Amino acid sequence: MNTRKAEPYKIKMVEPIRLIPREERERKIKEAGYNQFALKAEDIYIDLLTDSGTGAMSDWQWSGIMMGDESYAGSRNFYNLEKSVQDIIGYKYFVPTHQGRGAENVLFPLLIKQKGHFVLGNMHFDTTKAHIELKGGRAINLVIEDAYDTEKEHPFKGNFDLRMLESFIKENGAENCSFVLVTVTCNSAGGQPVSMENIKGVKNIADKYGLRVFFDAARFAENAYFIKQREAGYENKTIAEIIVEMFSYGDGLTMSAKKDGIVNMGGMVAIKDDEELYTNVRSMVVPIEGFPTYGGLSGRDMEALARGLREVVEEDYLEHRIGQIEYLGQRLIDAGIPIQRPVGGHAVFVDGKKFCPHIPYYQFPAQSVCVELYKEAGVRAVEIGSFLLGRDPETGEHLESPMELLRLTIPRRVYTDRHMDVVADALIEIWKRRETLKGFDFTYEPEVLRHFTAKLKPVE
Ligand SMILES: *Cc1c(COP(=O)(O)O)cnc(C)c1O
Repeated sequence: MNTRKAEPYKIKMVEPIRLIPREERERKIKEAGYNQFALKAEDIYIDLLTDSGTGAMSDWQWSGIMMGDESYAGSRNFYNLEKSVQDIIGYKYFVPTHQGRGAENVLFPLLIKQKGHFVLGNMHFDTTKAHIELKGGRAINLVIEDAYDTEKEHPFKGNFDLRMLESFIKENGAENCSFVLVTVTCNSAGGQPVSMENIKGVKNIADKYGLRVFFDAARFAENAYFIKQREAGYENKTIAEIIVEMFSYGDGLTMSAKKDGIVNMGGMVAIKDDEELYTNVRSMVVPIEGFPTYGGLSGRDMEALARGLREVVEEDYLEHRIGQIEYLGQRLIDAGIPIQRPVGGHAVFVDGKKFCPHIPYYQFPAQSVCVELYKEAGVRAVEIGSFLLGRDPETGEHLESPMELLRLTIPRRVYTDRHMDVVADALIEIWKRRETLKGFDFTYEPEVLRHFTAKLKPVE
């Protein structure tokens, strides 16, 4: 028998959710300008907008909240977190920050020494790219070609194209490159993992050209779980061992703890052993985030994170976490719905281009499915495609995204498989009448980051 194990936890506290009637949902989404970011959370039944800061903390984390030491300097919770970082990540130094982008803001100016220098990544996350550019750097994506093909099965679609990485450095000169940034798992490529072999390959190339390697480590535990599942030689290693090996190939990291830290707010910069860089990070963090032993977090938040980092590496947890996403993905695959394969670590991505081939990219096919999903079942998803991408700053034309995706992002420990069934059943219903879906056009279009605040109308 091949049944999945049940959730490795039982429920001690519940938060009611409510499905408002269909007519109300239709009115609410219209009032929101057909933009799910403008919906009130209380009008949503199942919220799959993001897995960032939306996870459920355990009783052990909540009890840690009561142990918060709110001393301005030297809080005991800082030292507990330091111990977690040293035990789990294996790096000597760290400073807390209020979230991932706070960490980017503190670290990147110290690494990008000159305007126009390149930061080489598999695929940079959007705030990461923004921070690189704000510091004068240029963010280059060097992920393998297969990452762009939703149907191609590849166990490590977040991998760097190592040949491209080396030839980029050769052509542009190592002196014009700031550092290499490995995003695990690769969020922008669909939560796809990076293999240990690839990380080692990146490290070898970086060493050859005298470049440093950093991690964007938001989903480090999910990446380690995929390595254990899919990479030869790692099946008998523990997740903890895999994580320490993975990070041993880097010099430091930025982390959004809102993902695999399983806290609602938090982040950090961690540094392997470079004392000088650590000293500089400490001076940088004071005016931006706060004194180095709290860096934008209260003592209780640091305690919750110290405990979350220990919980996220538990194999039972990860097996259920990744298994739940695979479960949702498999239900959609069985119904013939085109999704990105294999499913990633934190989300299922529906291929909007194949779902609605009759809607052109400049009328946002994945956004159309997103609107329909809210109407159908009160489920909030998010578009990752041309709606998000924006316009060419020079020509003013809509840019065409290589992929039009609808992302169903699963919060950690929040929803059960029954909730996944509701989502799958709704999408299957919509799939049956997909030819009737309409494209969208703007009634209001902000100049930057338009998808957050834009208002839309259906194209008749
Ligand atoms: C979420 C995320 C960030 C930014 O972190 P915030 O906590 O949202 O500021 C950076 N990189 C990756 C890969 C992320 O997923």
